[in-house]
Amino acid sequence: MENKHAGDRATKYWDVSAAEGAASGHPTREHDLNEAIQEAAALLRAGETVAFPTETVYGLGADARSDEAVERIFAAKGRPSDNPLIVHIAELSQLDEIVLDVNDTARRLMEAYWPGPLTLVLPVRPGAVSPRVTAGLSTVAVRMPAHDIALRLIAAAGCPVAAPSANRSGRPSPTLASHVGEDLAGLIGGIVDGGPTGVGLESTVAEAGPDGTVTVLRPGSVTAAALARVAASVHTDPALHSGRGESSPAPRSPGMKYTHYAPRGSLRIVRGQDPGAVVARVQAELAAAEARGEVTGVLAYDEHLHHYRASIAISLGPVGALENAAHRLYAGLRRFDEEGATFMVAEACPEEGVGLAVMNRLLKAAGDEVIDV
Ligand code: AMP
Ligand code: MG
Repeated sequence: MENKHAGDRATKYWDVSAAEGAASGHPTREHDLNEAIQEAAALLRAGETVAFPTETVYGLGADARSDEAVERIFAAKGRPSDNPLIVHIAELSQLDEIVLDVNDTARRLMEAYWPGPLTLVLPVRPGAVSPRVTAGLSTVAVRMPAHDIALRLIAAAGCPVAAPSANRSGRPSPTLASHVGEDLAGLIGGIVDGGPTGVGLESTVAEAGPDGTVTVLRPGSVTAAALARVAASVHTDPALHSGRGESSPAPRSPGMKYTHYAPRGSLRIVRGQDPGAVVARVQAELAAAEARGEVTGVLAYDEHLHHYRASIAISLGPVGALENAAHRLYAGLRRFDEEGATFMVAEACPEEGVGLAVMNRLLKAAGDEVIDV
């Protein structure tokens, strides 16, 4: 795989994406997949980093118990050390080794949504994982991914696997193995290519209090409404909604305070109730930018995309099916960089359901630059 970064290590690469597509149980598929998983698991056991697909985005895994292994994640990503990592498990039996106590609400959420894109913040069992994983907190974030390759790799490694998104810090999370290669080839032990990820945005992070209240610390595809089917009451950290004032409290999920996902050019969001006004403002922004000689980009919903003229036009799918926007957002932001966009406009979507997660990530990408019309 091409190495676009300064890293000079040999990064192993296993392509099991075709194997993934083949019918489950097909002998060739089984052989290739099993070989890749055994080799990748051996690297993890040796204290190395391995990128692997999950149903959310690609993760960069390492043995969560080992200081040295976890340090390799931070070094490869250039990640701030006060931003804790999510620990991935393959079986519920691994949970007791890592956490002290799981309250009834947390247990019900696991029954409903594991394996799946829901991370739960739980009291950490002292000494169970490296303090680099928890950034010194008394809690640890845990999830069980709903992805065959991820589950088999974690099980074969035989350890809890700390795995943040497999991108350089500040870059959009990877939804394809090629995104991982662009950012981390030469800096990590290996990449398991299982094809495109499903959801496209990172997991929902939530904490269940002893009173049955669930707090969403990071929005994702397991929505507040989905959590409310199981929990007595669900709160969303107010810092996660747009339009927050300077005086609002810092987000409780440490990672939420960093500017993530930012493309290299300047990105702004146009938001409004009146579709005609939104279209007119996006058109005006793009026309003015083109007149200034900018390389323009637009991220828009299918209902409006045909109204816009830009060097790079990216569809987020229909506004009525925001899971498409979640799936496409990061690849779209990366494409803007690849094609040299200097000025980009994105349409806002309603901050409801998965739309809250889409807007949360988009606002970070735009550095909160919103034009209200
Ligand atoms: P990433 O691994 O890049 O998907 O980021 C992990 C996210 O989980 C970050 O936003 C962290 O702040 C959050 N997180 C991890 N551990 C904890 C914890 N113990 N308490 C609260 N949030 C956490
Ligand atoms: Mg990340």
